[in-house]
Amino acid sequence: MGKADLHLHTTASDGASTPADLVRLAGERHLNTISITDHDTIKGYLDAAGIANEVGVKLLPGVEVTTLHEKNEIHLLAYCFDEDHSELNNTLAGQRQARVNRMQQILDQLKKRSGFEFSLDEVISEAKSRNVGRPHLAQLMVKKKIVASFTEAFIRYLGRSVLDEIVPEFVQLEEMIRIVKRAGGAAILAHPGRLYDNKEIEAYIELGLDGLECIHPAHNFERQKELTKLAENRQLLITGGSDYHGTGKEYDPYFGILTLSEKHVNRLERLSQNRKRLKSEMKQ
Ligand code: AMP
Ligand code: ZN
Ligand code: FE
Ligand code: FE
Repeated sequence: MGKADLHLHTTASDGASTPADLVRLAGERHLNTISITDHDTIKGYLDAAGIANEVGVKLLPGVEVTTLHEKNEIHLLAYCFDEDHSELNNTLAGQRQARVNRMQQILDQLKKRSGFEFSLDEVISEAKSRNVGRPHLAQLMVKKKIVASFTEAFIRYLGRSVLDEIVPEFVQLEEMIRIVKRAGGAAILAHPGRLYDNKEIEAYIELGLDGLECIHPAHNFERQKELTKLAENRQLLITGGSDYHGTGKEYDPYFGILTLSEKHVNRLERLSQNRKRLKSEMKQ
């Protein structure tokens, strides 16, 4: 049975590899199936489709959506959706703008708390044409020698405490789950063991999740086992990936090492196929 990695970032969001380079690297690391799951954009996935065919790596449609639930930011992975679905694409366009507005709020907080003045324009140009996020601001802080490293920027200035002070305009978790399903895709809670306790995870499951990302570098083996058990008990899909963001970035060593068995990919694809079939039957 082949190996899969269903959580990867490219230069379309905050990853360091271009979509084409990432697909080539996946081939070199003997992955059979991958999904590019950039933050709130499918551009990386769309750009990689041609090269994936050439290299012989199976590429599933994917995206990691930043959603809100009771003011907390929750990352929702979506897979195997119809990539031309207009509601999904309109929502992602809204998310792109919400990211820009959120960055302005983060900059305002930074000024208030620490006196640092960054303009929105300079952070956006650091992000180039990508979907802007905290990693681009962290990069800028390193360049300006405010911090010695990317990680220091997160620890000192860009962590949860700053997010707790702002009100982003991201889509609600419940709403996004419904949109993903209407687009024929599967909705999976990303790295659940990283941020939430089991009670919170149970509450999110009630909102209609299709699965849990049990395999993720932020989960130790015990947590992975616990989450897998929970997913099995609740008849949910199990997914996983390395959350690779490029050489030298967070989780770099796990790409090609931390993998998902393809039997789980088959289940994921089957769910999506059934969903799409039902949708087309209802139209007739
Ligand atoms: P954002 O999209 O603005 O919420 O930024 C989320 C991204 O920031 C994650 O996908 C990681 O790439 C990165 N990140 C989050 N926390 C840390 C951390 N403590 N150290 C390094 N990178 C981080
Ligand atoms: Zn990221
Ligand atoms: Fe995430
Ligand atoms: Fe991620």
